Amino acid sequence: MSEEPTIFEQIIAGDIPARIVYENDTVAAFLDANPLAPGHTLVVPKEPYERLDDLPEGLAADLWAAVQELTPRIESAVDADASNVGVNNGSAAGQEVPHVHVHIVPRFEGDGGKPIHAVAG
Ligand code: 5GP
Repeated sequence: MSEEPTIFEQIIAGDIPARIVYENDTVAAFLDANPLAPGHTLVVPKEPYERLDDLPEGLAADLWAAVQELTPRIESAVDADASNVGVNNGSAAGQEVPHVHVHIVPRFEGDGGKPIHAVAG
């Protein structure tokens, strides 16, 4: 874990404004400040582990359970047809905030976006 509070810890603490859409004891979710699509949401563990592989097993399960619960609800809220769900795990993969976060990016038929397997191509 990093020593300085991450941006996402500051959001969870209420020190930086964000549109929180979900919260339980261990996980929070809020809208991305620079959305790739309407409803683009970040799901984060409240504890600031940097990478996916740093997460304790129970917390990884909590995180994924929240992602699984939220994904259809977000799609429904913005009337999306599908979504990309993914993690930029490490700086070489594009991770900018050193606090694990799962992106849920709603997708719409014909929106012209790329699938995850094309991102690094
Ligand atoms: P990464 O590249 O680390 O996977 O994604 C970081 C994400 O965090 C980006 O999509 C970026 O828009 C989002 N982000 C960065 N700072 C803030 C912030 O202060 N508030 C919110 N809501 N999202 C942020």
